Amino acid sequence: MGHPIYVIGHQQPDTDSICSALAYARLKQAQGADVIPARAGNINPETRFVLDRWDVETPTLVEDATADRLILVDHNESSQAVLGVRDAEIVEVVDHHRIGDIETSEPIFFRNEPVGSTATILTHLYDEADEAIDTETAGLLLSGLLSDTLVLRSPTTTDTDWSIAERLSETAGVDYEEYGKELLQQKSKLGEKQPREMVLSDFKEFTFGSESVGIGQIETVERQAVLDQRDAILTAMSELVSERDYAVFLLLITDVLEEESTALIAGDHVDTVEDALDTSFADRESILPGVLSRKRQVVPPLAEIFN
Ligand code: MN
Ligand code: MN
Repeated sequence: MGHPIYVIGHQQPDTDSICSALAYARLKQAQGADVIPARAGNINPETRFVLDRWDVETPTLVEDATADRLILVDHNESSQAVLGVRDAEIVEVVDHHRIGDIETSEPIFFRNEPVGSTATILTHLYDEADEAIDTETAGLLLSGLLSDTLVLRSPTTTDTDWSIAERLSETAGVDYEEYGKELLQQKSKLGEKQPREMVLSDFKEFTFGSESVGIGQIETVERQAVLDQRDAILTAMSELVSERDYAVFLLLITDVLEEESTALIAGDHVDTVEDALDTSFADRESILPGVLSRKRQVVPPLAEIFN
């Protein structure tokens, strides 16, 4: 027996990362594999709600994965992965993001599909393995899917996501619109968070050419409550730009009901971002109508212009 294998999502884990790690670990365990569901950071309030709702144990926290064996879910870029990933062995990847920079010495199972969530792909993997999805697992997968697609509103949503959401909600015994609204409410809970925590709670770092770019997102049904703290948020963003030497830090405050985002920006490359997103910032703020998805609507134009 070697080390166990951790099934793990990205840092600043979201509901799709946590639920996918849990659901994939269950599938691998059912097939006799020695795997442990894990997480690369703290559980956010929405995910906490989901774990309590389906009465599922919180995955193990991995702080440093050096020398571990890993199955990556919901990401495949080392800048987003758990600390120590470069000195870990990646044995599988299941993801729905752009192909990043993960390298391996051996061929591995690598599954990438352009769908709304990793949970969607996992439903396919259960089907392919001819493994039944129980009520609890359906609840987890549905949560990942609805969270990532903003209850099927995000432009990343595919026909496959729609049909899988319908099927999973039947198995889980919930109405996906109703349950999805509960998730959106949880997403909006800012609680006692300090501005720095707020901007880092759903945050991803990208390497575009020679530049490092940070892109955070706050999905909310109460945008004004977030914007009330605008100045403090911008200060926290500027501090992170100098600490981490980012070319730019972009924060999307996404109003999931109005289906648009307010963008805040820190760093020197404001013009570049204006060109990429076809917008203009006044006082480090701009409105991006129709923008709900960092992955689909923001990362590709920024990657293109910086590269
Ligand atoms: Mn994710
Ligand atoms: Mn995802």
